[in-house]
Amino acid sequence: MPLGDKHQKKDVEAALKRAEKAGLKVTHDKNRHRWGWLICCPCNKSELVYCTPRNTGDAANRIDQFTEKHRSCA
Ligand SMILES: [Zn+2]
Repeated sequence: MPLGDKHQKKDVEAALKRAEKAGLKVTHDKNRHRWGWLICCPCNKSELVYCTPRNTGDAANRIDQFTEKHRSCA
């Protein structure tokens, strides 16, 4: 990801980094509520990433779960 595309929540950013490392695609589209998407290209599944999740721990967990589920696809 280019500089400046970091998620402002540290926990979420860390989870996104783990997802990227697992081979998933992270896109940042500067929508107001939506930070971007986590995408598994091989099976075309995606997970929405919010800019300001109510619970950052939950948001990070959701990303980690998606990563674990799709780790073997990439
Ligand atoms: Zn997948």
